[in-house]
Amino acid sequence: MQEYADCFRVRGKKIAFVPTMGFFHEGHLSLMRKARDLADELVISIFVNPLQFAPTEDLSSYPRDTKSDLAFAEQTGVDIVFMPEADSLYPGAFQTRVSLDQLPRHLCGINRPQLFNGVTTVVSKLFNIVKPHVAVFGEKDFQQLLIIRQMVNDLNIDVKIESAPTARDPDGLAMSSRNSYLTADQRENALAVYRSLQNAKDLLEKGVRDSTVIIDEAKKIILSYPGNTVDYIEICDVETLDDVNMIDKPVLMAVAAFVGKVRLIDNMVLVPDKQK
Ligand code: AMP
Repeated sequence: MQEYADCFRVRGKKIAFVPTMGFFHEGHLSLMRKARDLADELVISIFVNPLQFAPTEDLSSYPRDTKSDLAFAEQTGVDIVFMPEADSLYPGAFQTRVSLDQLPRHLCGINRPQLFNGVTTVVSKLFNIVKPHVAVFGEKDFQQLLIIRQMVNDLNIDVKIESAPTARDPDGLAMSSRNSYLTADQRENALAVYRSLQNAKDLLEKGVRDSTVIIDEAKKIILSYPGNTVDYIEICDVETLDDVNMIDKPVLMAVAAFVGKVRLIDNMVLVPDKQK
């Protein structure tokens, strides 16, 4: 892969990169289309990164379908699909970690402390291997996007980070490879996550500014469906992820909920109307 990247660069070609864990849906494809328009050569990776899963999490059952992924990649104009093996990225002697101090202490990092350490380590490695000029990440994983931007700034990594909006099913459910775990009933219950965000937007439009009130309402909506539990619901600063109690500027509302055993995340940037 490094030799391909060097060849592209020697020939003056611009490389765009989309790292993924595979099992493609429209969200992944929208990132690839955006990346394709930003560069001459489009490289994607498919790698279910063991470093970011806790032993109790779904590494072994994570959905995989390489044949279908490759067909989608070809249709979307991908030039190279990089699919490393875990043993080659993390040989026995591997001991380096890339980790951030502050941003991973919020939201998903609280109950999944290994997650972002694993993400930043693997993305650093992939950047060194693929040598992209630009990389595209989804706003669905808003915290991940902030963390990657911070890492790139902090370490002077010469890759421009771009983002793409969350792709949703027609009824609003954020697309996710993990949606494939949901039964038909759970698929209905999962919609509560999106509904809770939409309701927050409506409340804000009606002039409610108190985060506690909005979060309580969101919690009620999610818990009103059987089998749903809440991991977190936060309203926070769009850059630092620190809690915001009174909404007087654009904020991130981020939700993580379990639908049965399936953990889903979603978010929305809420923008208060200055007039109200
Ligand atoms: P994953 O394969 O889930 O690790 O995701 C790979 C990339 O796709 C990440 O940058 C995600 O943020 C992005 N992504 C995942 N789901 C969506 C979605 N529904 N809309 C937009 N981007 C997404």
